[in-house]
Amino acid sequence: MQSSLSTRLRAFAAGAAQPTVEELAAALDSTFPLAELLTIGEEPRVQFFGKKIQVHILDNIRNGHCPEDCGYCAQRKSASAEEIPAYSLKQEEEILKEAEQAYKSGAYRFCLVTSGTGPTEKQTIKYAELVKKIKERFPMRLCLSAGIIKDPKFAEMLAEAGLDRYNHNLNTSAEHTPAIVRTHNFDDRVRTIEHMKRAGVSVCSGVIVGMGESNQDIASVAVRLKELDVPSIPVNFFLPVPGHEIDNLRELSSEFCLRTLAIFRIANPTAEIRVAAGREIYLKDKQAEALRVANSLFVSGYLNVKGSDAAETYSMIRANGYQVDAETSDMDPELCKSGSIDQNAMIDSIEMKTRADLRAFAE
Ligand code: SF4
Repeated sequence: MQSSLSTRLRAFAAGAAQPTVEELAAALDSTFPLAELLTIGEEPRVQFFGKKIQVHILDNIRNGHCPEDCGYCAQRKSASAEEIPAYSLKQEEEILKEAEQAYKSGAYRFCLVTSGTGPTEKQTIKYAELVKKIKERFPMRLCLSAGIIKDPKFAEMLAEAGLDRYNHNLNTSAEHTPAIVRTHNFDDRVRTIEHMKRAGVSVCSGVIVGMGESNQDIASVAVRLKELDVPSIPVNFFLPVPGHEIDNLRELSSEFCLRTLAIFRIANPTAEIRVAAGREIYLKDKQAEALRVANSLFVSGYLNVKGSDAAETYSMIRANGYQVDAETSDMDPELCKSGSIDQNAMIDSIEMKTRADLRAFAE
């Protein structure tokens, strides 16, 4: 049984067969050897990305007061008032300064993130202007995460402005989605991905693991992303932010996190697999092992939670024989320390970003 699953996983990793939910879920089970799973996942990682690591930096350009009710998110209306600093869209100058900082810090990709259901036409015009200005000044890849795109015309406007990528996570399976959000559904998310793809914008879409889902739910996201041919997949491990509303939190061991990353790589061999939120807390000293299958990560934290800073992360990358795949050769890691915290302290408590972390250039 184990050897036939192993043969099938190798075929998925080689792009020679389509993965099924059942098979990927079986690989998540502890009865399948972790060492073998990582070896199978490492092959396409090395084939398509060598030893390179793509570094992403997030910028919350609007924070909090979201009318949606995603139970995992500190930005939803019912949680944001007391849990996080809420603000409307940052001024253009502030965003441009942050883009410059990210560029000089060696970001492969700069990700603009806004809270909210999805953009109106007026907001889309504003985002398109921002995209144009950032792209003119800083030759790094640009990603926008602005929620559900209802009108295909909005996708075209962003494409025309030169947006490289749009992020919209599936988060969990279609079946488990109603357990974590009631104000929109799984199909809204898939439609957004399809609109962006049709407009010619590359899509980033991933998963959040640890929200009471089953192994089948996780495997089902990996299969759905393969069907949607998504080239960039962030794998997040749920950080129970203050005020979250997720029932049945799932215990996440570092071994399970490694298994999860491996099955996303095996199902999506050519995709950029990003070890995203929860890297420091759950993987702990196994972060380098995660890079055997993942080829991308965030530095300086996540949406509203702090993470290890650029200098610390780059040193972990290099000490393990990997190279930072940066857009700029004159990067200055010292510029990117605003999210820095002691990693050991973080394991015991999730530390939220402060207003100063989120608005380093605010007047
Ligand atoms: S995940 Fe996005 S849509 Fe959901 S509550 Fe948070 S900011 Fe709003």
